[in-house]
Amino acid sequence: MSGAGIETFGNSERDDLYAQLRAYEGRAAATAGRGKDLVNQPMIRHWCEAMGDTSPAYRGPDAVAPPAMLQAWTMGGLSGHTDGTGRSAAYDEMFALLDGAGYTSVVATDCEQEYLRPLRPGDRITFDTVIESVSPRKTTKLGTGYFVTTRTDVHADGERAGTHRFRILKYRPAQRKKDSEPARRPRPVINRDNAGFWAGVAEHRLLIQRCTDCATLRLPWMPGCNACGGAEWDTVEAGGEGTVFSHVVMHHPAFPAFAPDGEGGPYAVALVELAEGVRIVSNVIGVPYDKVRVGMPVHLDFLRTDPDLELPVFRASEGG
Ligand SMILES: [Zn+2]
Repeated sequence: MSGAGIETFGNSERDDLYAQLRAYEGRAAATAGRGKDLVNQPMIRHWCEAMGDTSPAYRGPDAVAPPAMLQAWTMGGLSGHTDGTGRSAAYDEMFALLDGAGYTSVVATDCEQEYLRPLRPGDRITFDTVIESVSPRKTTKLGTGYFVTTRTDVHADGERAGTHRFRILKYRPAQRKKDSEPARRPRPVINRDNAGFWAGVAEHRLLIQRCTDCATLRLPWMPGCNACGGAEWDTVEAGGEGTVFSHVVMHHPAFPAFAPDGEGGPYAVALVELAEGVRIVSNVIGVPYDKVRVGMPVHLDFLRTDPDLELPVFRASEGG
């Protein structure tokens, strides 16, 4: 309902949503929270074991809790806080505003702690959390949204013990490129050591390097010979026959530029062993990704993935 109106803010100089969000600064996010357990030695021991912290300060009769455990004493665990401790109505309202405006995703970005006094086994923890600040709208790689910082003041037996600031980004995920232009594969890095390989590809020739000292073949191209250390080389053109030595099917993350459907669906990546004995990582085309098999005969082909990129690939010789 309100979402439709808020959508237009992206084209507006003013950010009315930001003004609405800022009104929540200083409001409580959780009030009079109570730690589920007193500060205790078993939780300290488990923490130290998980962190690999062997400091003697956290053991024995005079043990203190590791300062970085500050937040742990305020957490509700899997079952949550059952005594009314929890997010306030104001916090939920602010989140509803963001969700309603399309900023539906959330990621924790960082936290900051200040320690005012050591916590010891037996301390009773209470805490209050406020919405400390909301940033102006920012655009990050993840998308556009607002950073929200909450500040939790932790007390031990009524005494201030520390502060925990927690920042999240509540954002609208960046649009996939699909809507504008088709995704493109990354460009190969072409340098002095491999320029000849790419020059061969441009002529639809797959060139294998050959050491002129010991005749060892190598692919991918490298500056020197792994077998004898020789720096001199010439090339042999691959005949184009090979077999699938190994393969994987890529499901996640989705890379539309690599997928035959252009949508990011699964695709096969194969290690192809050439008849000459060297291997190359490539794509197998001509069969569905789930029909690629180890030992399958394939032959060299060239695939133009976009106007500026052509790659050696391998076509299955039969339907699999
Ligand atoms: Zn050699």
